Amino acid sequence: MLPLKNKILKEINASGPISIERYMEMALFDRKLGYYNKANPIGSKGTFITAPEITQVFGELIGLFMVQYWIDCGQFKPFTLLELGPGKGTLMSDLLRSSLIVPDYLDSCNLCLLEKSHSLKEQQMKNLQDTNPVWLDSLEELPDQPVIALANEFFDTLPIRQFVRGKKYWQERLVGKSGDSLQFELSPEFEFKPLEGRLKDTSEGDIVEIRTGALGFIQGILDKIKKYGGIFLIIDYGESQSLGDTFQALEANQYANPLANPGSADLTSHVDFGALVKDIDDISVSPLLGQGKFLQNLGILQRSQILAKNLTGEELEIHRKAIDRLISPHQMGNLFKVMAIYANRQPLPQGFH
Ligand code: SAH
Repeated sequence: MLPLKNKILKEINASGPISIERYMEMALFDRKLGYYNKANPIGSKGTFITAPEITQVFGELIGLFMVQYWIDCGQFKPFTLLELGPGKGTLMSDLLRSSLIVPDYLDSCNLCLLEKSHSLKEQQMKNLQDTNPVWLDSLEELPDQPVIALANEFFDTLPIRQFVRGKKYWQERLVGKSGDSLQFELSPEFEFKPLEGRLKDTSEGDIVEIRTGALGFIQGILDKIKKYGGIFLIIDYGESQSLGDTFQALEANQYANPLANPGSADLTSHVDFGALVKDIDDISVSPLLGQGKFLQNLGILQRSQILAKNLTGEELEIHRKAIDRLISPHQMGNLFKVMAIYANRQPLPQGFH
């Protein structure tokens, strides 16, 4: 049996079924055995592949988007350029390369990264060593200055709790055990204040997911944006409101049972974008756009054609497939969404018009 599964079974033996939140925390970030603390979790040889690992065009366009927004806002300086969960550092590296077009932008920024995985932090150190980033331990360390922040496929890895609508209130979906196997169980029905508002749009048996940890990350960045200006660009798969079971595991690029092999699979769930911004005020929120539409607004097709001119044969085919994967409605184009949060006094960013 996997040693991490054993550890989880022991915890359930000692104190009863655990929340999905607790299960995800252990399966993904146990110091030694958690999925993200093992070597190579991301990339074609790892378990799953993210947009920046598919093509450099993704990071380059996001980089140009940010430089343009900085210009549209009057070029505040100095400012923090922040990425949450930078993975292998590919997105940041592509983004910085395209930002070279405006040297003053790069001269004015302090590069900060927030990363919880030890093995990915090492990869970031290698891939971004020429850019002198600072790794923050928490967002409380953010400097008092404007911030341009980015989170790609970050919120989907933050642990969730799942609730099933009962006759009157909610039952929490928990992780329990039967022999040596982990299995889902339901708590008794109880009144749950944070989901009071969802009683009116759900019926018995519906599942709703909440991600309590996400609000801390949002708030830490919003405080700086409200006070000093800036933008927080969030890209992830999800919807404007949670409904249904989206808790899933990917192992070797294949869907797997999320309870089967803790520590060997990436665990995620769709992001509830509406819940992220539900209780925030004094700040502007863009419309929620599909990634395909957003990247096309930023000129991905034009950029792709320019790159295609220098490619032939198999290379050209790979390039075309990569662009299609990012924008096609049948692939990432609709499932992945983009949302920007920015200061009230600033304009709606390009790409959202
Ligand atoms: N943005 C990257 C990686 C996405 S995977 C890309 O697009 O390729 C999710 C990333 O978030 C990983 O780097 C993971 O280690 C990090 N992460 C997850 N939870 C975190 C937390 N609570 N604090 C900091 N980093 C976290």
